Amino acid sequence: MSAPYAIRIVGDPVLTQRASEVTEIDARLAKLVDDMLETMYDAPGVGLAAPQAGVQKRFFVYDLGDGEGGRVLINPVITESSGEWEFTEGCLSVPGLHWDIVRPKEIHVTGIDLDGNEVSFEADEYVARVFQHELDHLDGVLLLERLDEDQRRDAKRAVRQLQMAAPAPEAEPKRSLFRLR
Ligand code: ZN
Repeated sequence: MSAPYAIRIVGDPVLTQRASEVTEIDARLAKLVDDMLETMYDAPGVGLAAPQAGVQKRFFVYDLGDGEGGRVLINPVITESSGEWEFTEGCLSVPGLHWDIVRPKEIHVTGIDLDGNEVSFEADEYVARVFQHELDHLDGVLLLERLDEDQRRDAKRAVRQLQMAAPAPEAEPKRSLFRLR
């Protein structure tokens, strides 16, 4: 069985637009969340933001591999951030490419869960990184915009190659241009 959604790839305008707030938490949203989780696991990835599935709404799904399973955060807001932390980041919408990116180390996030309850928590390092990355997607920001000048130069070339690559022929093994780990 294939995933419910084809993940949108860099160059798709849906990835550069600001998504709008979720105003209704209903069965339709619950179904969307299920389908997005399935798409995320199929990829596989640890997070997937609605715009990556072509849905212009402010929520993302994630599974931190901590035994809590797949979850969703709706209308998330980072209310505080501090520190700096470098991590090798990739994105399902920029497949096969990774960069060392510095972002705040600790964040405070608020949002709404699928039951409509307000949630509020602290996250640091890896978890904070996942949230910041996914939240960027809701603002139409890709990790490419978080690169430094040198990285950006290399990224331009790599992304162009990525976009020119026709639907990958089955016989050709996927090649990672930046295999940092
Ligand atoms: Zn991403």
